[in-house]
Amino acid sequence: MSDIKLYGRIFIKTNIEAVTGLHIGGSSVGLEIGGVDKVVIRNPLTKQPYIPGSSLRGKMRSQIEKTLGLRQNNKIGQVTIHTCKKPEDYNANGGCPVCHVFGVPGEVEATGSTLLVVRDVALTPESANDLGKLKADLPFAELKTEVAIDRVTSAATPRTLERVPAGAIFGPAEFVFSIYERADFARLQYVLEALQLVEDDYLGGAGSRGSGKVKFANLHVTARGSKSYADEKQFETEFASVQALNQKQKFDDLIKWAQDAIPVG
Ligand SMILES: [Zn+2]
Repeated sequence: MSDIKLYGRIFIKTNIEAVTGLHIGGSSVGLEIGGVDKVVIRNPLTKQPYIPGSSLRGKMRSQIEKTLGLRQNNKIGQVTIHTCKKPEDYNANGGCPVCHVFGVPGEVEATGSTLLVVRDVALTPESANDLGKLKADLPFAELKTEVAIDRVTSAATPRTLERVPAGAIFGPAEFVFSIYERADFARLQYVLEALQLVEDDYLGGAGSRGSGKVKFANLHVTARGSKSYADEKQFETEFASVQALNQKQKFDDLIKWAQDAIPVG
């Protein structure tokens, strides 16, 4: 394996709005808390719900894998994902975008550095303040009762799902994209596409029943190059939506700007 040189990083910051109620599951403590079957994951210190970076990243990865039609060949716990298991596959056709951007699990033969880091996302202070006023049994959330109907007996079984209510805003979410080689610049495209795909699908649980529609808003892109890493440069101004940033011309401008901000070689 050759030496690794980090040339710089691109940072995308964005707010995440819950357009419908959002359920990202926490531990199964339902029976202890007023009969709630599924609670949301919370920061144990503040009791506030948050979006784990791993959930967001996992959803982005699975959406891109499906779009590219990649073989689902690696079972990790409950889920099966795509993984290039040989360096030849990892490097084929200019490099597998999914395995370059999102990485390969540790047990697979070392290939290259993972480009994307996704951080946990807390509620904005304003949203935390608003949700803090809710008179719910569980803080910062709502309870949604769903009824499952037994297909044979027609018996109705109510289940209670805890959700962060529609209108809540998390942010800023931070996506950190590292540049190790010139080809990495173009791979940023998959991050922006993944955000669009997540918007069009859902985040967390019960998505097919209406939960988890999110919108990315107020996007900022900045960069640091290794020659003057302390000096953070900003790309244009704020973007209202992923769509605005994803336009072909805008993306081309972004890549040109990033190549200037992060000199490679
Ligand atoms: Zn791959």
